[in-house]
Amino acid sequence: MSEKKRFLVIGAHPDDADLMFGGTALKAVRKGCKVKFISTTNGDAGHYNETRGNLAIRRAGETLEVVNRSGIEEYEILDSHDGELVPSLENRKKIITRIREFQPDVVISHRLYDYHADHRATAQLVQDSAYLVMVPLICPNIPVPEKEPIYMFSHDFFKQPALFSPAIAVNIDDVLDEKIQLLDCHVSQFYEWLPYIDGKMKEVPKSREGRVKWLAKERLAYYREQAANAGNLCSSMKHAETFELSEYGRKPKNGELEQIFDF
Ligand SMILES: [Zn+2]
Repeated sequence: MSEKKRFLVIGAHPDDADLMFGGTALKAVRKGCKVKFISTTNGDAGHYNETRGNLAIRRAGETLEVVNRSGIEEYEILDSHDGELVPSLENRKKIITRIREFQPDVVISHRLYDYHADHRATAQLVQDSAYLVMVPLICPNIPVPEKEPIYMFSHDFFKQPALFSPAIAVNIDDVLDEKIQLLDCHVSQFYEWLPYIDGKMKEVPKSREGRVKWLAKERLAYYREQAANAGNLCSSMKHAETFELSEYGRKPKNGELEQIFDF
């Protein structure tokens, strides 16, 4: 990789970017690349006995811990409430501004078809921004980037209207422990809210060491499935984070994605 690349990962909640891109982020940072995570909502609805205000504060603290453990540039949380994000003009301008300011080579977000309204709204906002980022008269106070970014989608299992079709697979076998350490930052989610909503509260071990092992067992299967589904891209890996190319934004040249993701 000749040039240090810049990756902007835009998720709906303060753990989505880690789930989508955490392993890749760790590898990219080690190679001197710059990574920024954004959560378009403050995540203040994902709990069963916290107030919204307390939860938002806890989750902001959890993202700071992700920055400490990963070495990414920043984990920015935008000010929409969880479960209430809409693809409004105001929110679109916030996304255009963030993309222009960070000047990423690659922007990664959700696909448009997804179970969660905030994921869909985030996907819509990013797709709506992809062309307008390069239009100087939109948000005229912030200059357009020198280079138009490439836009990509993170993995999901939804089948309608189209199966996820990976263009690139990043082998994360060598950063599995560190990836789990990123998810471990989100105590309110992976040890509280998600086990609660999934009916697994009794499974969560009490000790810190036990919890991390349990988290790895719970979560790594997803990355094994991604690796299996992208076997045509790389057959030797056991765990992968995979990304689909958007038809919007800059079209990468032949072999360019492989260069960008050569960690
Ligand atoms: Zn989410």
